Amino acid sequence: MGRGRVYLVGAGPGRADLITVRGAEVLRLADCIIFDKLVSPDLLNYARPDAEIIHVPKRIGSYSLTQDQINKILIEKASSGKTVVRLKGGDPCIFGRASEEAAVLAEAGIDFEIVPGVTAGIAAGEYAGIMLTDRKYSSQVVFVTGREADEKQQSSIDWNLLAKFRGTIVFYMAVGNLDSVAHELMKNGMEGNTPAAVVTNVSLPNQRVVRASLRDVSEKCKEAEIEPPGILVIGAGAKSDPGLNWFMKKPLFGKNIVVTRDADGNADFAARIIIEGGNPLKFATIKVKPLTQSSQFLQTLAKIKEYDWIVFTSKKGVAIFLESLQSLNKDARVFASVKIAAIGSETARRLGEFGIKADFVPGVFTSSELGKQLIGFANLRGKKVLLLRSELASNELSRLLVGAEAEVDDVPVYKTLTEKSQCSWLSEKISEGQIDWLTFASPSSVRGFFEQIPGKLVNSSSVKVASIGPVTSRQLRDIDVRIDVEAIEHTIDGLLAAVKGMYQ
Ligand code: SAH
Repeated sequence: MGRGRVYLVGAGPGRADLITVRGAEVLRLADCIIFDKLVSPDLLNYARPDAEIIHVPKRIGSYSLTQDQINKILIEKASSGKTVVRLKGGDPCIFGRASEEAAVLAEAGIDFEIVPGVTAGIAAGEYAGIMLTDRKYSSQVVFVTGREADEKQQSSIDWNLLAKFRGTIVFYMAVGNLDSVAHELMKNGMEGNTPAAVVTNVSLPNQRVVRASLRDVSEKCKEAEIEPPGILVIGAGAKSDPGLNWFMKKPLFGKNIVVTRDADGNADFAARIIIEGGNPLKFATIKVKPLTQSSQFLQTLAKIKEYDWIVFTSKKGVAIFLESLQSLNKDARVFASVKIAAIGSETARRLGEFGIKADFVPGVFTSSELGKQLIGFANLRGKKVLLLRSELASNELSRLLVGAEAEVDDVPVYKTLTEKSQCSWLSEKISEGQIDWLTFASPSSVRGFFEQIPGKLVNSSSVKVASIGPVTSRQLRDIDVRIDVEAIEHTIDGLLAAVKGMYQ
């Protein structure tokens, strides 16, 4: 068996999408991933389903033993021909012990590659609007560990030099040690009023920043109950304009937002919430079951060229339909002579991904508007119209089209089933007032959610409810759940914009 290879990969700090493109690429290749404590679990989404995942919590004290074990695992796995990713928070070589691992691998003759990552110190500055370098006040930056290896007798930190350093000092692993760091620096001559800042949980919805003078920073952090992991920045940059703190000023920063679609839809929505600084909490309420094996569907497909219009009312419907074409050895040419209508921009975009341009998208993305506007757009009298959509879709669209004398076939391509999620954690958080928003993107999500969480609990708590549009709102009203905002554009982006709008 050939020898494997080890990738020492930097995961970046905090949120998952700060990994490099190369880092994500090698994660997809890995047979085995050795995963550090501070790495975002969302990075496992890149891993192959059959990849072996080994979590390595590093405990101070038994640290070196654990490191030996890790070294052994690296060698063992790679020697048996596996592709191994050693995934470390931030950059693998900045206070990451990658140098020891690389040395062990080199000695064992095992191929390795180092994939750099965004180190926490740099991200801390940038996510807090603290500039580590600036031509006016800082032409040099130094990275220092605030905690040295336990076995060291004598400090290898040059406190004397740091105390005189004219630039920015970035301390890692110092949050539990602020007192002694400040003390050492002041003892060696640094002014007590030198600006300092501590940034914890960089890039995450629970990021916090405390700014103070070096003299007060420890006390201020104690008062604010600041906890690791965090970075301590010392120097003029630490006093930068709070207006530059772009991340924490985002309207959804720190907001806990529950997403209630199916697993894929939740992953997609969650990624958009993270970009806005929010904290998505996934609670799947539905799962989608394709109906593309049904005889009704297969018979329809056989005569699809007879239709004048095909109407898609969801991106899910588009994806399931086109995937079924592929599995039946057909392709988008089945649409050659047919015109296509899409309910909204997201559905049209999904069609576009398969190389298909929608002939019609209404101005307002609901099925009744789609019906009304399509009737205005095209003469449907005597025309054959095929609706490819969810089994549960309302009759309104077909009623409108039949009213315009179209011949309508309504063929379900999927149905949604209720997904049971573990719900006690969510009920608890809602009643403790820890959830800011519940978001609903379809009537079936509303049904699935309130089969599991009592509407009364929601109505009596401080949580707010956002609906994607009138059909979903109607479902909420039917079960007497209060609605705080309804999206103007009935898409996921519209839903997010509606929530954001409540803070602007
Ligand atoms: N290799 C890592 C550092 C490992 S040492 C890197 O390049 O970032 C661990 C220290 O990194 C923590 O004690 C803390 O100082 C810092 N750190 C890691 N993740 C962090 C985060 N999300 N927010 C703030 N500091 C973090």
